[in-house]
Amino acid sequence: MASTKYIFITGGVTSSLGKGIISASLGKLLQARGFSVSIQKIDPYLNIDPGTLNPYEHGECYVTTDGAETDLDLGHYERFLGVPTSQANNVTTGQIYQTVINKERKGDYLGKTVQIIPHITNEIKTRIKLLAKKNKLDFVITEIGGTVGDIESLPYIEAVRQLKWELGKHNSLVLHLTLVPYLSAAQELKTKPTQHSVKLLLENGVQPDIIVLRTERSLTKEIKQKVSLFCNIEIDSVIEAIDASSIYEVPLKMQSEKLDETVLKKFDLPIGESPDLKPWKEFLHKLNNPIDTVNIAAVGKYVELQDAYKSINDSFIHAGAHNQVKAKIKWIHSEKINPENVEKLLKDFDAILVAPGFGHRGIEGKILTVKYARENKIPFFGICLGMQCAVIEFARNVLNLKDAHSSEMHRTTPFPVIDLMENQKSITAMGGTMRLGAYPCSIKKKTNAHNAYKKTQITERHRHRYEFNDEYLEKFTEAGMFPTGINPDTNLVEIMEIKDHPWFVGVQFHPEYSSTVLKPHPLFVDFIKAALEQKKLRTKK
Ligand code: GLN
Repeated sequence: MASTKYIFITGGVTSSLGKGIISASLGKLLQARGFSVSIQKIDPYLNIDPGTLNPYEHGECYVTTDGAETDLDLGHYERFLGVPTSQANNVTTGQIYQTVINKERKGDYLGKTVQIIPHITNEIKTRIKLLAKKNKLDFVITEIGGTVGDIESLPYIEAVRQLKWELGKHNSLVLHLTLVPYLSAAQELKTKPTQHSVKLLLENGVQPDIIVLRTERSLTKEIKQKVSLFCNIEIDSVIEAIDASSIYEVPLKMQSEKLDETVLKKFDLPIGESPDLKPWKEFLHKLNNPIDTVNIAAVGKYVELQDAYKSINDSFIHAGAHNQVKAKIKWIHSEKINPENVEKLLKDFDAILVAPGFGHRGIEGKILTVKYARENKIPFFGICLGMQCAVIEFARNVLNLKDAHSSEMHRTTPFPVIDLMENQKSITAMGGTMRLGAYPCSIKKKTNAHNAYKKTQITERHRHRYEFNDEYLEKFTEAGMFPTGINPDTNLVEIMEIKDHPWFVGVQFHPEYSSTVLKPHPLFVDFIKAALEQKKLRTKK
């Protein structure tokens, strides 16, 4: 395409309407028509990135291959589109202000008063256009976080207004997502909140081009007409987004509502053939028609908030569908696990996963979980802190290194089997200072890891400070826990496995970040297979 088309997604009425899923679904439909698409998330908070946020605040922190700690919506974008995102795909108010203030200190604006308009809005516009410039894209979809009317969103809405004007109507459009609530007492769907939210946008000079209405119930023609009339929108551009059983159904729902066609028409682009969604539909078919079920216990400490383990839960959905198996995940709070109840809590599961995490809280429950999985030969998957717990458990209970620990949890442990690398020891700042992003790993043959990946060279994404302490490597290997994945450049241990166990794999990296709908992660696929085997064994018994 001659020039990049820009789509801005704003939200009104309430948060949590699923702007990320609508963005990803529209992206998918355009991609399935042969266009190149990238999706960007703008977060109106002052943190530079969500890396320093507690998962309870904002859900999982998603990590890109280039090592950016980003909003979890980028995970949706990658899982739907199957193309990697990067730092440029996540912009925060913190980053914008930091750049502008740094420029001011350097003297770039010498003599000028530095203001929200034009300096902040210019920086926002630059960041939006940068994505297209870097990747030569047909479409850039920019999701503006927050809800219209928030103080924090104002500079972004203003930047959208300016961009819309500068780019012209055949190169840019605004899609506004709102809620049409159903009032059960009145037995009616209500459009007034949508009207108000569009008024707010109009006050800021922005006329939406498409309105997507999130709703629990089917919208009547009258409802759509009302929105059309009060919001100055053609009726064809009023789109229903009814609640779906799975986020992965949304692209198909949007296709049947002709969202993609409406977008193409607005840009004066030919409608052409309908998008090729065959592989996506095959995935959905397998997802909706499982031939077996496995029960998996997942042990973590942010279990109260579903979003805290978003990528892990979704990886199980992809890998489950690939195996045509439903992986039922039960999240268990590690703080609630103790020596008395561990068996009762875990005995009915076909496999056990220990999740990533930070800090001391709940650590002993995770270590007990590993012990139970190891001794009872239940398939075990440890991710990042989960792998570190496996190492600690082995050190304590097999190598008899009493009080072995990670120096993260116990600074003065006599046996720091998990420890900081020398180059990490002098770092005191918390933001962006971990081992982040993609690193290579060489895999040993005839191991569970190799069986899963079926290759010896991989790259995986990391987000941690602490590492397996090489000083103990010999002791571990002699006793039967051995490295099956090694970083070829630094020799750091990336994967640990155990002999004489059906499936025991601890990984220092985060495989969950790279699982997508059409390319489920091999380790999750293989872990589910191991769970199926375990289930067969259990039913035989
Ligand atoms: N807290 C551990 C570390 O920093 C593990 C981090 C994680 O699980 N992502 O090394």
